[in-house]
Amino acid sequence: MFNTEILKYSPLAINKAVEYILNGEIIGLPTETVYGLAGRIDNINSINRIFFVKGRPQDNPLIVHVSDIDMANKLIKKPISGIIKKIANKFWPGPLTIIMEKSNLINNVISCNLSTVAIRIPNSRSMLDIIKKTKIPLAAPSANISGKPSCTSAFHVFDDMKSKIPFILDDGDCEFGVESTIIKLSQDGRICILRPGGITFEDLYSIDNNVYLSDSVLNKTLISECISPGIKYKHYSPSGDVYLINGNNDSFSNFLNNNINTSFKNCAIMFNNDNINIQNIDIFYYGNSTDYKFQSKNIFSILRDIDKKSYDKIYIRAPKKIGVGLAVYNRIVRAADFKVVDLD
Ligand code: AMP
Ligand code: MG
Repeated sequence: MFNTEILKYSPLAINKAVEYILNGEIIGLPTETVYGLAGRIDNINSINRIFFVKGRPQDNPLIVHVSDIDMANKLIKKPISGIIKKIANKFWPGPLTIIMEKSNLINNVISCNLSTVAIRIPNSRSMLDIIKKTKIPLAAPSANISGKPSCTSAFHVFDDMKSKIPFILDDGDCEFGVESTIIKLSQDGRICILRPGGITFEDLYSIDNNVYLSDSVLNKTLISECISPGIKYKHYSPSGDVYLINGNNDSFSNFLNNNINTSFKNCAIMFNNDNINIQNIDIFYYGNSTDYKFQSKNIFSILRDIDKKSYDKIYIRAPKKIGVGLAVYNRIVRAADFKVVDLD
C-alpha cells in the first residue's frame, strides 16, 4: 500500500519520477494521448506489477515508449526502414504506435509471447524527460483499471490507482484524450490501422495511399490478419448499458423520446450544438458535432463521470468517422460492446 503522491511537472518532479523508475517502481504519468502507467522494460517485477495493478489480462501486450529512433532500433529485429521509416520520421514523436518484429531485449511478458513489439515515441515532455534521463525504454499501458475508460488527467489516475502506486506526475489534461493510433505493415506491404487515434487515416493516406482499417476497428471480429490481442476484451466501459446511436439531431431526438424507459436511470451524450427536447434524462455534451479533436479530448472524462453516477442506460450520439472522429467512434462502439442503433 502506498500513500500516493501527485506532483506537478517540474525538474524536481521529474527527478522523483526517475528515481522511482530506476528503483523498479511503477508510476502514473501523462502523455499527449492518455495517462500511462510506466515501468522499466528491463525489470520483470515492474512489468508484472503493471499487469497486476491494472488487472490487465496476461495476453494483452504492452506498448514500449522510447525517446528516439536509435533506441527503437535496438528493440526490433531489423532497423526501421522503407515506408515505416518514412511514417516514423513524419509522425514521431506523436500519437502513433508501430508493431514490428522484436529483438531479444523485449521479454515475453511485455509482448505476451508474440514475435512482435509495439513501439512509440510519445510527444510528451514528461515521458521524454524520464526516458532521456534513465536511458531505459518504458513499458506503459493506459493508467486505467482494465476495461474502464482511460485516464486523461492525473485525478483520473488517482481515482483508479491510489494506494497501488507511489507517485503520479501531473501535467494537466491530455492533448488528444484517446490512445495512440496503432499500425502494422501487413504481409502484402500495406499499412494496416489496428486502432485509430490522433494520427488519422487521412494523415497516413497522405504519406502512402496503401493504408486500410483492420476489420476490428468498426466490427466485432476476431478473424483478421491485422488484429491487436487487446480487442477481445471489453474496453472503455462505464457501468450500465451503452448504446451508440447513428442518427441526426432529429432522429436522435425522436429515438430518445420514443424509447426511453423511465423505470431506468438514463442519460444521453450528445453534441453541444444539438437541439433536443427531452425530459427525464440527464444530458452530457462532448463537443460540437464537427469538432473531432474536442470530442476526443472529452469523451473519456465524460464516460468516467457517467461511470460514477451509475446509469442503467447510456445513449451516445455517434460522431462522424472523419479525422480523429474515427478514433472517438471506435472508443464509443467498443464501450457499447457494439450495441449500435442505425436511425438514418
Ligand atoms: P493500451 O496500452 O492499454 O492503450 O493498449 C495497447 C494496445 O496495443 C492493446 O490493444 C494491445 O493489444 C496492443 N498491442 C501491444 N503490443 C502489440 C503487438 N505486438 N501486436 C499487436 N497489438 C499489440
Ligand atoms: Mg488501455
